Amino acid sequence: MKHHRFFLTAVLLLSSAVAAAAERAPFVLGPLSGTLVLVHIANLPGFQKRIIYYNPHDWKNLNRVFPGKKDGTQSERIAHVLNTTVIAASDAVIDMHCGDGNEALIPYCYWMLSGEKNLDAVSKKMVLAFGIKHIIIDKSRTKDILDSKYLGNTAILQSIPAITTESGYLGGTGEEDIVRNVRGVIGVMKLFDMLEGEPDLVPDPVWVEDYEVVYSQSDGLFFPLTKMGYHVREGETVGYVTDYFGRVVEEFKAPFSGMILYIIDTPPANKGEPVYEIGRIRSD
Ligand SMILES: [Zn+2]
Repeated sequence: MKHHRFFLTAVLLLSSAVAAAAERAPFVLGPLSGTLVLVHIANLPGFQKRIIYYNPHDWKNLNRVFPGKKDGTQSERIAHVLNTTVIAASDAVIDMHCGDGNEALIPYCYWMLSGEKNLDAVSKKMVLAFGIKHIIIDKSRTKDILDSKYLGNTAILQSIPAITTESGYLGGTGEEDIVRNVRGVIGVMKLFDMLEGEPDLVPDPVWVEDYEVVYSQSDGLFFPLTKMGYHVREGETVGYVTDYFGRVVEEFKAPFSGMILYIIDTPPANKGEPVYEIGRIRSD
C-alpha cells in the first residue's frame, strides 16, 4: 500500500547527535512516496547558546510548554507553531532527542500509551521500526491537550501516532549515535511504505515497564557513583551532591531495582533539575 500523501515528521528538539543526523539524512534512498518533514533544531536559541533544558529568552523548557501559546513567550510561540503547522500536517511524528548536553544515556525510546488501541498499535510498530532495543512503556503522560507538555504527547492527544527517541551522549556527535538516528528514521519510513523494503523491527526488545526521573533538591556538584546502562538495587546510592566546598548535602538512593537510563555526567547540580533516570525492566 502506498501513501503518496503520507507526512512523517521528525522533530529534532535540541542539540548535536540529532542535528548531525539531519545533515546526513538527504542521501539517496530510492523513490520516496509521501513527505518527510525535518524540523532541524526546534530550540535554536538554546542550541546557539549551548544551553541545557532552556531557551535563554524566557528560561522555559520547550518540551514542557506544549501545546504552546500564540502570544506567549518565545518557547510557547515555538511550541504553538510546531503544533499548529508541523504536527497538524503530520500523519506520524518522531520526536528525536539525544539526551541533554549533561546526560550520559543509553539509547532508548518512549512508547507513549494513549489508551486508544489502534493508535497504540501503530506507535508500537514505529518504536520497533526505529530500531532501539530499550523501550519504555510510558503511561505517565498527561491526557490534557491544553497542557500536553511534550511534543510527542501533543501529537498523540490529537490521535497522531508519535514516538520519542533518545540517542546521543553528553551533547556529542558520536558516529554510532548519528547512524542510529538516521537508521531509525529510515526504518519508520519503510514501515509506512514511504521507502521500499521492510523495516528491521527490534527482534528482542527490552521493555521498561516503569521509570522514574530523580531530581536534585540542592544546588552544588553532582557525583555519580554508577554509569548509564548499569543495574542498581533498591536503596543503593546512585550518586550524591556536595555544596561548592565539598560537603555532602544530598544522597540519591535508587527508588527500586532497575537500570540507569541516563545519569548526569557533568558537575553542576541544581535544585529541581534531574540527576538520573531509572527504569524497571519487564521480566519476560
Ligand atoms: Zn529527551
